[in-house]
Amino acid sequence: MQLTGIHHVTAVSADAPGNHAFYTGVLGMRLVKKTVNQDDVTAYHLFYADKHGSPGTDLTFFDWPAPPERRGGRTVTLTGLRVAGEGVLDWWRARLAGAGVAVAEPTERDGRGVLDFTDPEGQRLALVDDGGVGPAHPWEKSPVPAERQIRGLGPITLTVPELAPTATVLTEVMGMRAVRDYPDPVSPNHRVHVFEMDAGGPAAELHVAVRPDLAVARPGAGGVHHIAFRAPDDREHRAWVKRLASFGVPNSGVVDRFYFRSLYFREPGGILFEIATDGPGFAADEPAETMGTKLALPPAFEPHRRDIEAGLKPLWSVGG
Ligand code: ZN
Repeated sequence: MQLTGIHHVTAVSADAPGNHAFYTGVLGMRLVKKTVNQDDVTAYHLFYADKHGSPGTDLTFFDWPAPPERRGGRTVTLTGLRVAGEGVLDWWRARLAGAGVAVAEPTERDGRGVLDFTDPEGQRLALVDDGGVGPAHPWEKSPVPAERQIRGLGPITLTVPELAPTATVLTEVMGMRAVRDYPDPVSPNHRVHVFEMDAGGPAAELHVAVRPDLAVARPGAGGVHHIAFRAPDDREHRAWVKRLASFGVPNSGVVDRFYFRSLYFREPGGILFEIATDGPGFAADEPAETMGTKLALPPAFEPHRRDIEAGLKPLWSVGG
């Protein structure tokens, strides 16, 4: 039983229209699902991904009117977005700078070309050249040319105060392999430790930065809420529930999210982890061709659609 990679990352935005404009208009991702937070139906839950909403390509946002995240440790501190092709990072640097985005110069980190930038709310992102390994499903309606589009997520960096407790859960419970480390780009006296799943590579790597000097981050806009890992099917997913229990790891049990099955627990550094199934996927409740264009509601919420829609800010400005 192996986790096969990063499934999705869920982050926080306090500006849903601005968030939508950035991830679709600047980064060229597809809004594959527009739904509401099931605990607060006045707030969106937005999912950006590749053409199909493939597992491993999905960056999602809770729309919360929260102040900006207070930076610190015990959270996800960098989300990698994979790209490929000759000159791809220079191309993206010009595109992002032209859109007024805070973007660094392309550099090399852990043996790969990377381009660090932040979204308009300070969300820490990096384009990572993955060498074109593995499948890509570009979206033909994206403003970004197919060969330059974001191919998926990874690697993802966590920051914790102590390596050993987190590393033990990653390796002993979750079956990851500790493979190498490199100097922390944010604080070069510290190290970042690389853990890989299954076939490895950036789509299946978790990077753990160890920063005992940092206070605990206070969640908020421009920060990450949780990270999810891939389980191929329901059978393995149920086996993960048993495995966590056998190690005494408190967990949520199986939660049906309709588009996939989830399972939540906290790693010892306090970061919320999820294990999610690859299927059934985002086309489970609307046609693949038009998914994301209409507000999708779980069946129990459908009778209240009119009220729910009236309580949401429009994502698109008039004529846009
Ligand atoms: Zn999730």
